[in-house]
Amino acid sequence: MTFRLNLRLVGSKEHDSDMISPDRQFENNSQDGRHPAAGIDYELFLRCVHCGLCTSACPTYTLTGDENNSPRGRIQLMRLVADGRLGLTDRMREHLELCLDCRSCETACPSGVRYGRLIEPFRVAMEEGEQQEKLEKRCDWFRELVLLRLFPYPERLRRVLGPVWFLQRVGLLRAAERLGLLRLLPARLARLVEILPPRVKPGPRLPRLLPAVGRQRARVAFFVGCVADVIFRHVHWATLRVLQQNGCDVFIPPEQGCCGAIHLHAGSSRGARQMADANLVAFELDRYDAIVVNHAGCGAMLKEYGLHWRDGLQPHRARFAAKVRDVHEFLDELGLIAPPGRIKAVATYHDACHLGHAQQITAAPRRLLARIPGLKLVDLPETEICCGSAGTYNLLHPEMSDRLAERKLENILSTGAEIVLAANAGCLLQIAAAVRRRGLGPRVMHPMELLDLSYREEDSLESAGRKQQKVVQR
Ligand code: SF4
Ligand code: SF4
Repeated sequence: MTFRLNLRLVGSKEHDSDMISPDRQFENNSQDGRHPAAGIDYELFLRCVHCGLCTSACPTYTLTGDENNSPRGRIQLMRLVADGRLGLTDRMREHLELCLDCRSCETACPSGVRYGRLIEPFRVAMEEGEQQEKLEKRCDWFRELVLLRLFPYPERLRRVLGPVWFLQRVGLLRAAERLGLLRLLPARLARLVEILPPRVKPGPRLPRLLPAVGRQRARVAFFVGCVADVIFRHVHWATLRVLQQNGCDVFIPPEQGCCGAIHLHAGSSRGARQMADANLVAFELDRYDAIVVNHAGCGAMLKEYGLHWRDGLQPHRARFAAKVRDVHEFLDELGLIAPPGRIKAVATYHDACHLGHAQQITAAPRRLLARIPGLKLVDLPETEICCGSAGTYNLLHPEMSDRLAERKLENILSTGAEIVLAANAGCLLQIAAAVRRRGLGPRVMHPMELLDLSYREEDSLESAGRKQQKVVQR
């Protein structure tokens, strides 16, 4: 059957999407490492039957109503480039870059289109390949200095954030905000300062080993990450205590580093591969039952180590990836030891895209939270829609990001919940920033923090809440 796609796509004449022989096109892009579609299995394009059932799940289509900002439209744009029928224009780049890579469309698609496997290599090649010269001319200092050389390195990031947190603590940052002085900073830096949450006491450095409490049930390695360790060390500690309470010996390999997602999303495949390969060395796979990770973005990246690069290390990366478990998934499989402490509160749970869509984990966190005595978990409308954080998206596309954050906050407020839970560093930052902007709203927590409070019993939500209230106000 010949299907004529009745869409208006940027730069395209009306075309017959099935006209080009797949074989010829695969040949077209498979040999040229600089082509944006290099590295994409052409068969993946063919799975899309253009039904459009994904469009209502797509945040950028929902907010703009532009087919070029829909999954179907973007797949078609990429395919046109892969086919050599269109060159990559700046407008096409904009539509592809506006994608959150939230993968909500994957969940919605009845034909099993793996959209992430299309957009991710395409964007990496787009940045690294033919557009390299342009990028260099644009001299993207933010990408080079902040995304690639600061964020993935916790010690550097700690050194930079130290003075910022000091200014925040003594009220100078708030004063600068009120006087409009932040506007003097480059826009993306000002944005970074705005999103940065008040510092929560991080707790001590993580040790190399934490023993199980009671009978040992599993030996796991814990993945620490980069930004998560600097801003959410307290969440790491909560997660580690929950794992211990569930009979896990927890190893924390000291040589591990960033998962590589920041590099990959910023279009540096080589940098991401170096990060991945350093982690292959840092983790002694045979010692552990699982590598446990508590932030969805890192988890999704680690689980895809076996997919991104086809070289001699690919089997090792695939073996690593097979050991990775999100902490909710892991505890749910292990069988959670019921936490005893009562938490009398109403909470709602936001599905982080990289947990719900990329890893298809939605039921496990809810099952764990349901075990907390006294906790009432209410459904969040549009829980599956991205909050606008999406890795570094909130820094690079502030307008779209803010619209999504506001929509998320409205949905949260409509539930009446006192606590909103999310299992990803980006979502926690994004939702907390939206809450601060309004000057009211629920506490924003990771599910492991709530479970930890329940295990600790002695520390009630009230006292934890008071601590949090203190830091929420700058
Ligand atoms: S991605 Fe899936 S849901 Fe979307 S148009 Fe293609 S086949 Fe349909
Ligand atoms: S990944 Fe998200 S933003 Fe991108 S096309 Fe799919 S649903 Fe839309």
